[in-house]
Amino acid sequence: MFKKLIDLFSNFFSSLFGGKKDKPAPTPVKGPTSGNEKSPDFAEDSSDVPVDTIVTVKVAEVNIAIPTGGNDGPFADPDKEGAFEDTPKEEPTPVPPKDKTDPTPPVDKPKPTDPTTKPPTTSKHEPRYLWCLDNGHGKLQPGKRSPLFDDGKTQFFEYEFNRDVVEKIMKTLDKQGVKYFDVVPDYLEVGSFLEERVDRANKKKSDLPKIYVSVHSNAGPTADGSWVPNTIQGVETWYAQNSQKGMKIAAVFQKHIVEKTGFKDRNLKSTAISSLYVLTKTTMPAILTENGFYNNKEQVKELMKDAVRQKIADAHVDAILEIEKNGIG
Ligand SMILES: [Zn+2]
Repeated sequence: MFKKLIDLFSNFFSSLFGGKKDKPAPTPVKGPTSGNEKSPDFAEDSSDVPVDTIVTVKVAEVNIAIPTGGNDGPFADPDKEGAFEDTPKEEPTPVPPKDKTDPTPPVDKPKPTDPTTKPPTTSKHEPRYLWCLDNGHGKLQPGKRSPLFDDGKTQFFEYEFNRDVVEKIMKTLDKQGVKYFDVVPDYLEVGSFLEERVDRANKKKSDLPKIYVSVHSNAGPTADGSWVPNTIQGVETWYAQNSQKGMKIAAVFQKHIVEKTGFKDRNLKSTAISSLYVLTKTTMPAILTENGFYNNKEQVKELMKDAVRQKIADAHVDAILEIEKNGIG
């Protein structure tokens, strides 16, 4: 780890003073708590992505087309290298009429005039996708935590936040009848677990097309591992570059998260040079949400509140329900 830091520093200085440029800009040093033990070819989350490789798209620039046929067809992401067909041979069940997929039951439906007739059960949601929910990091992973607060002991751990939000999402999806796959329920026993999370999602058998959602909180670069300036804050959603479905899904999530939290809109992001592993190695459309900055001293206080986490989870559910209803063309 120490040697790694020295290397990072020397790379940093050589890039400042015109050293050889055979590599993309070095990942900014984020202090002694930062640690990504994975191959440098892949980033684990957006805080590992060199800033000068990032491509930004505004939500408003994305055409979230609603398919007319009501049939998504095979749903491996054709834009992805190595994508394979993991959906069943038979066509997915036709999508039911719109009012059935609407989570809000129509108000004027029930007519409980006859007491012997059971009141109509709330419209049953017909699942359209299998949502592979990834909580990002395990407890054993180094780094991915805030600096210590002034009391010298309080600290934010990203794995705990991610897990809490994902659990809140799953709880609501259970009520809504939406199908999901909890990719890493064993998060306490694992560290980075990067390949395995992707592997589990890829190998998961499903009659429904799969969509991968990785939930994270962000960290801005700092020279000494301390807090970032308060200007660095907000929400961004990542997708695999060139994946049209990924970009559309990302736009729906970004829209809802910004709406619900009121956090600054940092737009949709993708990267050409350093690839985010879970976005490029999954064989299904995939996105990664970065919900606020945990090394922003003001924003992390928000991220530690249960009500704010609930809002973030609700926003993810809203996005999921919108895509369950309309599909992604
Ligand atoms: Zn992360």
